[in-house]
Amino acid sequence: MSETSQQTPSATTTAPAPPADLLSMTIEELKAWVAEQLGERPFRGAQLYTWLHQRGAESFDEMTDLSKAMRQKLSEQARIAPLSKDLEQRSVDGTIKYRWRTHDGRLIESVYMPAEDRKTLCVSTQVGCAMACAFCMTGTLGLKRNLTPGEIVAQVHAVNREVRRNEGHETFRPLTNLVFMGMGEPLHNFENLKKSLAILQSEEGPNFSHRHITVSTVGLVPMIERLGRETDVKLAISLNASTDEQRSRMMPVNRKWNIAALLDACRTFPMRQGRRITFEYVLLQGVNDADEDAHRLVELLKDIPAKVNLIPYNENPGLGFRSVGEERAEAFRDILAEGHVAAFVRRNRGRDIAAACGQLANREGPDAQQAAPGT
Ligand code: SAH
Repeated sequence: MSETSQQTPSATTTAPAPPADLLSMTIEELKAWVAEQLGERPFRGAQLYTWLHQRGAESFDEMTDLSKAMRQKLSEQARIAPLSKDLEQRSVDGTIKYRWRTHDGRLIESVYMPAEDRKTLCVSTQVGCAMACAFCMTGTLGLKRNLTPGEIVAQVHAVNREVRRNEGHETFRPLTNLVFMGMGEPLHNFENLKKSLAILQSEEGPNFSHRHITVSTVGLVPMIERLGRETDVKLAISLNASTDEQRSRMMPVNRKWNIAALLDACRTFPMRQGRRITFEYVLLQGVNDADEDAHRLVELLKDIPAKVNLIPYNENPGLGFRSVGEERAEAFRDILAEGHVAAFVRRNRGRDIAAACGQLANREGPDAQQAAPGT
């Protein structure tokens, strides 16, 4: 980015305003912006929105039903591609990890997971994370900054484009499901998350159904309440422990909102028909994988419509936690099943390319960029 774009408009009368971040705008905001800034009719804003969010346009040149003059003004005043592809890694299981570079040189990741019946994208919401869970690689980074709504939705558009190209899809939106389980704590960036959901769910945009979007959280209780009130997407909770003592040791957030408070928030979360809350439970050898843990989980979850995903731990060098074997995971699942808690041992995807849960942690920033490829 040029230096001038950093200046505030008031700094000098000749300095250009920073480019408008069109991708972060809802359709109403875009219509108003087009009218105020470009002197165009508001419906031009709706056309522009469709180009950006339904067709995934990357340049103003493509927008052939907008006048040349309008496209010229747009290219002078706005930008629409907040992420550029930095790296792509393919796993033997079909998972693809994409690493994106932001305008300010940060690196974030999204993970594409194709399956027979669905194509899921795991989306990041922050650069780094402030939650500091002891077992998670992203947690070691600390929080660098929130992603803007445009940076969140741009991950979806960019991967749609990749899938269209790689797999020959003719529809604009080959992705079917979104999980907010990438880098960061989505509910710690609530306003931007909410706006990105509004865009991603909009009919004039990608039109994702609430049934196909899941937001995962460490358990920021007041924000879970807001998520339930202000959006209609599905909820996943990273529980990871069966006692407060265990959980507070691994997940500092539990010192503020303990398991009882968290489960209370789950009980009052609005549940549409047939829906369940997903509880993620990372099995850590000798920490939370005992039979008693499974029995306690049955007790904790008995009055909540729940589904438990048992996640095999992806070992991160230096963090000191160990994974459990398949047999232990299955025995744990069987205890839950006997207690009438639906549980699944999740298949581990993208482990060979460090794209699996808790492994997204690029050291970004000028000094680290040289060393980044191949991590
Ligand atoms: N901050 C949100 C979104 C991240 S989701 C949340 O915590 O829910 C990432 C999921 O991966 C969480 O369920 C987390 O508990 C899990 N996880 C973190 N590190 C992991 C690791 N090394 N192996 C397996 N799962 C991990």
